[in-house]
Amino acid sequence: MAPNKLALWWVKRDMRLSDNPALTKALQECTQVLPVFIWEPSLMQAPDTSAFHLASWAQALHYLRQLVQGTGAELAHITDEVPPAFDRLRTVYPFTHIYSHQETGNALTYARDRAVARWCHDHGITWCEVPQNGVIRRLQSRDGRSQIWQQRIVHSPVLPAPTAIPLAKATKTIMAKTRPPKVSPIVSPVAAYPVQDVTEYHAQHTLQDFLQRRGVGYRGGISSPLKAFTRASRLSVHLAWGTLSLRQAYQATLVRLQHLKANPQSGPWAQSLRGFLARLHWRDHFIQRLESDPTMEFTALNPAYQHLPYTDHPSHLHAWAEGQTGYPLVDACMRCLAGCGWLNFRMRAMVVSFACFSLHLDWRFIHPHLARVFQDYEPGIHLSQLQMQAGVVGINTIRVYNPSKQLLDQDPHCKFVKTWVPELRPFTTAEIANADKVPLGAYPRPIVDHKAQTKLMKEAVFAIRRKSSTKALSQKVYAKHGSRKKKRPRKPPPPDKQLRLIH
Ligand SMILES: Cc1cc2nc3c(=O)[nH]c(=O)nc-3n(C[C@H](O)[C@H](O)[C@H](O)COP(=O)(O)OP(=O)(O)OC[C@H]3O[C@@H](n4cnc5c(N)ncnc54)[C@H](O)[C@@H]3O)c2cc1C
Repeated sequence: MAPNKLALWWVKRDMRLSDNPALTKALQECTQVLPVFIWEPSLMQAPDTSAFHLASWAQALHYLRQLVQGTGAELAHITDEVPPAFDRLRTVYPFTHIYSHQETGNALTYARDRAVARWCHDHGITWCEVPQNGVIRRLQSRDGRSQIWQQRIVHSPVLPAPTAIPLAKATKTIMAKTRPPKVSPIVSPVAAYPVQDVTEYHAQHTLQDFLQRRGVGYRGGISSPLKAFTRASRLSVHLAWGTLSLRQAYQATLVRLQHLKANPQSGPWAQSLRGFLARLHWRDHFIQRLESDPTMEFTALNPAYQHLPYTDHPSHLHAWAEGQTGYPLVDACMRCLAGCGWLNFRMRAMVVSFACFSLHLDWRFIHPHLARVFQDYEPGIHLSQLQMQAGVVGINTIRVYNPSKQLLDQDPHCKFVKTWVPELRPFTTAEIANADKVPLGAYPRPIVDHKAQTKLMKEAVFAIRRKSSTKALSQKVYAKHGSRKKKRPRKPPPPDKQLRLIH
């Protein structure tokens, strides 16, 4: 260890002490390590940032600070843009190295990281960006990605939390300037659906509760918006803010599966946990898309679909965001998101399908609102899923969801709908199922004819799909972004096989 190596551990979306490769590396290589979190005004005010995110940051940091104090050190909070915050820090703590995790973020954090790289170069600072997941920077080809992923997530041991972080000499001076912003916690309007707590403690508790108690209901339990609240793992917020690492979640599940092998009655458990492992795998698969193509925040992965006939009617966006479309399940989902910040996968897909295919809203137009109401906002997954559900990737089957059919299938007694749409409580299930035909008190009339509008957008999408130039582009998209996990035909299926109507 070189005696003059002074490090910053720049805390980003890795708000934990355990299994933290950036922190571990900093402690191995440097004599002093100062943990610091920077509240960046531009990020705090970004269109895809919300009170859910600020509250999650604040809570996770408050807890992390206590953990850091337990090791003998301190966690500094600075409010400033980056790199200017580094200039200020250097006046009191002449650090030579910055350690952080490799971040796959939105255009704002990408631009900021490029500015940091330039600043480090100009100031002779070494910036060590350490991977904390299985996403590969500067990946040349998807072939072979799986081996690297396995090496990082399955075969590398989970790192222990450090027990001692030597107190950096300048800490006292810096702490005198530390002013964490005042952020109020968010309280869900429905007590039974609280906003999730985001700390390393809650992450471990949620993981164990899922693996030991709730996880048996995962298979068959995650499509219903009601059941999924307890049957899905609910780990997404922890993975998004880094209070849990993917490796911790994945390896703990493998250990649990190993234990279950000894029990002949464990069939449903094993099936559920295997399904869960597959989804953990998807996580990096989708984040890799953004890592490999940062323009996907603004551009369709498949350029053939860059311009669909969206109308982007502001009143439609408003009605959708406020849960006032006149389609009970869509409205319940949007109000649920606004209230507690979480929704299961199928319902997320349905609200996007409804926005793009029925309301003709561009996926880029709905992106900021949706990002804000997801407490677990993870740009790589979010943008990949938005594009997939909008049908602009061109290598997947397009799923167009029918909200009336989803209501009957996933909420047949309208319990979820009545929880979030109180004005529908006096009505029977049959009446609610017919809300598009018969007025129900103060509840809004449908703002569009779902069937007719969807038909129009599907025709537009399929007119593009049929073109031979689109097929060639789709093959390129597959080569760059397609999954190599399962054996699939390299060529996308013919257009008439690519649409699944979920009536
Ligand atoms: C339009 C849309 C936007 C989405 N945006 C996000 C987002 O911003 N952040 C986010 O974490 N998930 C997002 N998802 C994926 C998925 O809905 C959530 O990960 C899941 O509902 C979170 O709940 P859970 O942790 O209980 O999931 P579980 O089913 O228990 O899954 C465990 C973990 O696997 C990963 N995972 C699950 N499903 C997917 C998927 N389809 N793609 C990639 N990873 C997956 C997540 O990390 C999740 O936490 C989005 C899905 C859609 C359709």
